[in-house]
Amino acid sequence: MRKQLSFKTQENQRFSVPQKALLLRKETWERRMRKQLSFKNKETWERKMKKRIFVRILVGFLFFILLLIIVLFLIRFFSEKQIDDVSPEIPCEPSLLKKVDVLYVIPKFNDKSIAENKSWCEQIKGLDKKLAMHGVYHTYNEFLEDRNEEYLNEGITIFEQCFGFYPEKFKPPQLEISKNNKKLIKQKMNLDALFNQIFHKVYHCNDSGGASNNLVDWF
Ligand SMILES: [Zn+2]
Repeated sequence: MRKQLSFKTQENQRFSVPQKALLLRKETWERRMRKQLSFKNKETWERKMKKRIFVRILVGFLFFILLLIIVLFLIRFFSEKQIDDVSPEIPCEPSLLKKVDVLYVIPKFNDKSIAENKSWCEQIKGLDKKLAMHGVYHTYNEFLEDRNEEYLNEGITIFEQCFGFYPEKFKPPQLEISKNNKKLIKQKMNLDALFNQIFHKVYHCNDSGGASNNLVDWF
């Protein structure tokens, strides 16, 4: 005959295994019920539940934001580094020019054409970086005001005279550009604006950007 498994309780009562399982479930259920009944009333319990749900949503939201920041950090870390406001008229740390991949050059800052400064053009070409165009005169919100083809062509010609090739990319000063200017630029070059700035580390000669060069280094 098969011997049934059994054990003794503290009071020396003998129970079989299925009986003990039943007893444990009953005890757990009773404990839960006691806990629930220990709340002063149903309202207290509901308030606690609402608080718990709120905390869970908040933690989920913060986790999502943290995840976005980490993804953005990684994209910026591995993307090409850029520098804006490159001009012989604006002081620029040589170490800064060396560590970036793309230089955004202003063709005629302070009304002085870069094409007239041949040694500077050679020096910049010698860095062996990608070169792009950054406005024409780089006045405040220069391309928020509608410009014509002639205006844009002046910058393109100066750029070509300095570096010997046609610029493929254009970034408007302060990243501001009107609808008509967008159309005009896109007929001739690729346009880099806000999205480009978000997904790349962008330094500024003279450290004049919205975010300091130190901050850009860090993030
Ligand atoms: Zn600029």
